[in-house]
Amino acid sequence: MGVFYKWGAGRDPGHPEIVDAYDSTLVTAEGEEILDAAAGAAVVNLGHSPPGVADAMAEQAERVGYVSTSHFTTPSVESVGEKLASMTPGSLNAAFFVDSGSEAVESAIKLARDYHVARGEPTREAVIGRWASYHGSTLGALAASGNTGRRTTYVPSLRDWPKIGPAYPYRWDHEGSPEEQAIAAARELERLVRRRGPETVAAFIAEPVGGSSIPATRPHPAYYREIRRICSEYGLLFIADEVMVGFGRTGEPFACEGLGVTPDLMALGKGLSAGYAPISATMVADRVVETLEEHDHSFQHGHTYGGNPISTAVADRVLDRYTEDLFAAVRRRGGRLESTLEPLAESPIVGEVRRVGLQVGVEFVADRETKAPFDPGAAVADRIYEDALENGVYTYPGGGSVDGQAGDHLMLAPPLTVGDDAIETIGEAVV
Ligand code: PMP
Repeated sequence: MGVFYKWGAGRDPGHPEIVDAYDSTLVTAEGEEILDAAAGAAVVNLGHSPPGVADAMAEQAERVGYVSTSHFTTPSVESVGEKLASMTPGSLNAAFFVDSGSEAVESAIKLARDYHVARGEPTREAVIGRWASYHGSTLGALAASGNTGRRTTYVPSLRDWPKIGPAYPYRWDHEGSPEEQAIAAARELERLVRRRGPETVAAFIAEPVGGSSIPATRPHPAYYREIRRICSEYGLLFIADEVMVGFGRTGEPFACEGLGVTPDLMALGKGLSAGYAPISATMVADRVVETLEEHDHSFQHGHTYGGNPISTAVADRVLDRYTEDLFAAVRRRGGRLESTLEPLAESPIVGEVRRVGLQVGVEFVADRETKAPFDPGAAVADRIYEDALENGVYTYPGGGSVDGQAGDHLMLAPPLTVGDDAIETIGEAVV
């Protein structure tokens, strides 16, 4: 039997065994090379095995492998906290460390609740999300998520928090200019909050730019301007989930910056250590910290490995690699990847090719005129994924499971350091 994978126990022969990896390449036990065009679910931002990172890990392991951050601190935990405070937008100046993206979202949900309880608003508990979104697999993060495929079995265990539609211009049926449509879509939040009663709502959560659920969706900036206004007017905290799109994926340090919106809480993960150690963080705005301090309200939450010295030593090294030069290269490489995909626009089954920075979403439709998605049973994205893998390129399929609100799609999100030759190869495998 062995390992329990999500499809059961025992290794599925369709899943290659990886024994080595470098740059944008995975090496199987049979010695075959696979081009990692998904950066392992948009994680390995600096490519596989970048020089210097393993050294940081080993040096730290030889000094202090573990202390509890409930009672101690270490130089690397302080350093990563400071770096994140200066990198992230607005007044997100405090970092709470946990171990996965789900936990970063979970911490943000609880912190929103703590903020309102401390202020004497104990009825505010709901976290409004959007359909076709994914914020993590733990029960709180899943309750705030709108990915029906991931939710269905667990619905009885989830808080019944309401959702608005996705920020998905391709499928919006609002009238008017892109700006007017964006405002109309955001106002769905206002209607929902009013109907439910603002005194019951703690927060709104969204990925500023769509990640794995509907990749590379970026609404007109008016959308988040309006979301921010609604959150401020009705007393909701805005939680930005940048677990997938943070740390340069969009060609900006954080997706919020490109959209000109400042969140109150921000969930970070994947790119924080770029896959070399488990670590994630919830960034907390000054006014949230100040409110908790003012009311002497402590945050009753935490995980054993949160902020452990080895993960923070790795993150400390990784954060130094996120430079303006790298972000500029992301914009350039993204443009190049988009050019290689131009022939896809002619394909009768491709509805839209979207790109933000080095993240591409290719949406497959049964009918380009009506934008009707394929029947989920057709598993179009899965088949295209399998073909590409046959050709030695790993991509990331999704969709077909979101109540007909999204078509099947393929996400391309290679390492931010991907080379030009690899970009050409990705294009050839997918076109
Ligand atoms: N939020 C987003 C946007 C994600 O893409 C993911 C992971 N795909 C998560 C949260 C959950 O992160 P993790 O798998 O590390 O728990």
